[in-house]
Amino acid sequence: MKKRFIAGAQCPQCQQFDVVTLSEVNGQSRMECVDCGYQEDLATNDEATPASNKKAEQMIQWVNIDSD
Ligand SMILES: [Zn+2]
Repeated sequence: MKKRFIAGAQCPQCQQFDVVTLSEVNGQSRMECVDCGYQEDLATNDEATPASNKKAEQMIQWVNIDSD
């Protein structure tokens, strides 16, 4: 399974930076903090994503991590 660290992302629970990973579970994107264990399922429907969010998404630097 692939997990991706979200560079520069801040965990909403422990407020740490660069600890948030994104993984896919059953086609559902799931955000997980490796520091405090915080988890959040993310909506993946592009049509529901406001344009402003898409702009912010493009600023995210994705880092691929192969865990296997
Ligand atoms: Zn956290």
